[in-house]
Amino acid sequence: MSEVTCPKCGMPSTKLYPVETGMRVALESTGQAGNLPDSVCETCYDALSNNISRGVKLRMEEEAKQKNRVMLWKSRVNLVKRGRQLMTQKAFAEAAISYEKYLRVLEMIYEVEKDQLSPDIFSKSSRSKELTVIVSVYWDLVRIYDAHPRYSDNFKKSLGKLTQFAGYSAIYPDIVKKAEIFSRKAKNAGPIRQFIKKSRKSSGRCFIATAVYGSSFHPQVIQLRLFRDYVLNQHALGRKFIAFYYLKSPKWADRLNNTPRVIPFVRFFLNLTSRLIFFLLNRKIRGR
Ligand SMILES: [Zn+2]
Repeated sequence: MSEVTCPKCGMPSTKLYPVETGMRVALESTGQAGNLPDSVCETCYDALSNNISRGVKLRMEEEAKQKNRVMLWKSRVNLVKRGRQLMTQKAFAEAAISYEKYLRVLEMIYEVEKDQLSPDIFSKSSRSKELTVIVSVYWDLVRIYDAHPRYSDNFKKSLGKLTQFAGYSAIYPDIVKKAEIFSRKAKNAGPIRQFIKKSRKSSGRCFIATAVYGSSFHPQVIQLRLFRDYVLNQHALGRKFIAFYYLKSPKWADRLNNTPRVIPFVRFFLNLTSRLIFFLLNRKIRGR
């Protein structure tokens, strides 16, 4: 019997098997077709066909995961809607269940542990709208859990989360106003007043960004605020910069307001900065 050398593995073999077009296409689609000869030995042929099924399997798994993620993402809207509807019907226990499910869905989508959602996860400007939904959900949960002493742990947790998220949403001034009214008849009036006090203190305004974007809750401004709290504030030098910025920025913002011509340039620069910020925040999220 004459022996040939397999061009793929270099081993002597009695017979070479042609790599069919279909096989080649399948291997290419999973990125494994690099330098593939026209024909290979039996061992190589088996290995290649195994690779195909594995590659295709992996791709199908990835597709299923993606599909599941999309379904989860869509389901969260209904959970919030349902929660709000139940609130108006005064079905508070059921509303709480719906809201808690919504929070679990977010945890699954962003792959964080239970109760570990944090505002920086939503730093991408397309996600910042979610911050408002989250704040409204925690606010409703605070009101629901306030009514029952046996939910005091849930109350504390929701109020803590509300405090953490509130400053990053445009409905924040509205929530503070509502909290003031609510605190008059709340069972946990003390902690709610504490929340109001705390949020007043931490609502440091970004004067320049506000002058440039016209609102202190513009998605870009929220992003800058997240950068301040989750990146700059974590380092001594960053904290120095924050202090310096708050000392000087009212004057700079005044100057900006008096020379509107330069605002588009500053906006262009800030847009670039926020891209960098998003990159940094994202790297930080992945790193933890
Ligand atoms: Zn071979």
